[in-house]
Amino acid sequence: MTGKVYLVGSGPGGLGLMTFRAREVIDLADVILYDQLPGDEIIASLPDVEKIDVGKYGGSHTKEQNEIENLMVKFAKEGKTVVRLKGGDPFLFGRGGEEMEILRDNGIEVVMVPGITSGIAVPECVGIPVTHRDFASQVTFLTGHEDPTKEESAIDWKWLAGTKGTLVILMGVKNLPKISRFLVENGMNGDRPVAIIERGLRPDQRVTTGTLENISEKARVRGVKPPAIIVIGDVVSLYRE
Ligand code: SAH
Repeated sequence: MTGKVYLVGSGPGGLGLMTFRAREVIDLADVILYDQLPGDEIIASLPDVEKIDVGKYGGSHTKEQNEIENLMVKFAKEGKTVVRLKGGDPFLFGRGGEEMEILRDNGIEVVMVPGITSGIAVPECVGIPVTHRDFASQVTFLTGHEDPTKEESAIDWKWLAGTKGTLVILMGVKNLPKISRFLVENGMNGDRPVAIIERGLRPDQRVTTGTLENISEKARVRGVKPPAIIVIGDVVSLYRE
């Protein structure tokens, strides 16, 4: 009998924001493959079964993506129940879609367990709503991993520079200087408010605010580091320290 794989979102950090369903399937697991993003509190709470840290964190890859996929396939073929535990929601910049495809191609049953994404929850918990009737009626989630000055970007940066809506950037710390400069050069108002929330919902969470024009300098001075969510848009004006 082939086992099955649960692709599980752990939420943005801390046990409180993990779903009941996630907890249930974790308790069914024979083996758990986890990233670092779920955070210490969740990782420390995992049951005493086989656990493998496959975390990719700030560029230091513990295991390559194809190794992770091979491990999941191998365990499932051995008949094991596998939990693949990821931060936030598996399907928002979590490679959940790719892992689902590989598992399907190998004839393995895969069950998705959604999680609360950091893209909404991290700004929310510091009082920044990603939409608000007075400030933004659309929101775009994007990866900042893509360099806006590169010719062939999978992101329509020029279109983004003209948007009235909120931009929520994940994995954007490194490219923030390029992103903010590009947006201003392509027509976005340099006064547009920006917030960076590092390690959201963790004990050492930190918020840095500024404008599109000055945020990358502020981030540099404060030594802003990943993981962090960057929010660009008028909704940021609702933030209070
Ligand atoms: N699937 C995840 C995102 C994975 S991409 C989700 O839905 O949340 C990894 C990026 O998510 C990080 O680089 C950072 O931009 C963001 N992120 C995840 N958790 C975070 C947290 N607690 N605080 C700040 N940023 C976080």
